[in-house]
Amino acid sequence: MKILVINAGSSSLKYQLIDMETEQVMAKGLCERIGIDGHLKHTPLVGDKKVFDENVAMPTHSEAIAAVIEKLTSREYGVVESMKEIDAVGHRVVHGGEKFSQSVRIDDSVMAAIEECIPFAPLHNPANITGIKACRDVMGDVPMVAVFDTAFHQTMPGKAYMYAVPYEYYQNDGIRRYGFHGTSHRYVSSRCAELMGKPIEELKIVSCHMGNGSSICAIDGGKCVDTSMGFTPLVGLPMGTRCGDLDAGVIQFIMNKYGISIDEMLNILNKKSGVLGVSGVSSDFRDLDDAASKGNDRAQLALDMFHYWVAKVAGSYVAAMNGVDAIVFTAGVGENSKSSRAAIAGYFGYLGVEIDDEANSKRGEDIMISTPDSRVKVFVIPTNEELVIARDTKAIVG
Ligand code: ADP
Repeated sequence: MKILVINAGSSSLKYQLIDMETEQVMAKGLCERIGIDGHLKHTPLVGDKKVFDENVAMPTHSEAIAAVIEKLTSREYGVVESMKEIDAVGHRVVHGGEKFSQSVRIDDSVMAAIEECIPFAPLHNPANITGIKACRDVMGDVPMVAVFDTAFHQTMPGKAYMYAVPYEYYQNDGIRRYGFHGTSHRYVSSRCAELMGKPIEELKIVSCHMGNGSSICAIDGGKCVDTSMGFTPLVGLPMGTRCGDLDAGVIQFIMNKYGISIDEMLNILNKKSGVLGVSGVSSDFRDLDDAASKGNDRAQLALDMFHYWVAKVAGSYVAAMNGVDAIVFTAGVGENSKSSRAAIAGYFGYLGVEIDDEANSKRGEDIMISTPDSRVKVFVIPTNEELVIARDTKAIVG
């Protein structure tokens, strides 16, 4: 069985074609500037086919999908003979609200429910819907599955997902913590259980997804019991450009003092804050490491804040679960930054965590970076959201 995994953004579309017999990625690629002009980078990963990296006209997502299918099946760049070899499509969908606690096969009622969730993710869900419709246009009745970023977090108890605002806002408007990165937290926690050789039902895991966007998740017995992102992906940890947790009074103060609108304020909190805002240097942790090593105090402060927040939130989840067996680092920073992992683990002495410096220096593999004697185990596990989407799709379409 071969499954096409699609992650559609408003002007971009990422894809992978995965052979489910071997779980090998046969080809992957990225369409960019959809609706502007259009560019496709397509990389075959099996056989000796060529990489395609050129402008292609993409007035809408339908032309983008058509270009992807054309490349996947072409003699020069392709990895399959025809579209018929693609058995199913798995779509990443950002928000499933309270309706979806699992992945589902897409039909008209599912499309309507995803549309109902647009107010919760006004930038993302419309793009995901556009991607699904474009696939239908081009691929006809190939079975399709939606995999939601929010679904894994639906097991949170009310005490974790409720905000302490008048209850009517929850009841009437769905205002609550939803959480994001669920597919990633699900993947790394189940992989962690495999690496530990224990059933996930017996483990308490804190999963730290640290990329441009970052979130932490408390996973007790394989189920999410709390997570740091909320109604939107703006809160929790300070991130590349997002502010993380913030006193709402600050918003009123800044808006009044500088006469700015709520839209401008939200733009500042989403795009100009986080480690970029504090450092004034960059949202990229490599640039911050570099600047800090040259004596830039604000870059060091931004890094210190990030590490402190990860440790603080992770610690609160140890309290929430009344213990922890393993801590996992994943995503861009979690997988690549030895120094960030070491700095964060430095806060976990009270858990009996000891880091093996040599293991912590390795890269690109699933690895335990704590010493064999470490009371709580610490892992680096490269995330693989596409594989989860493909596996769910396979399980659902059979
Ligand atoms: P996204 O949230 O966009 O999926 P990623 O998980 O790809 O993000 O993470 C991207 C971030 O990872 C970059 O902004 C960069 O800060 C960080 N990163 C990548 N490589 C390194 C590295 N070697 N050292 C420190 N940070 C890194």
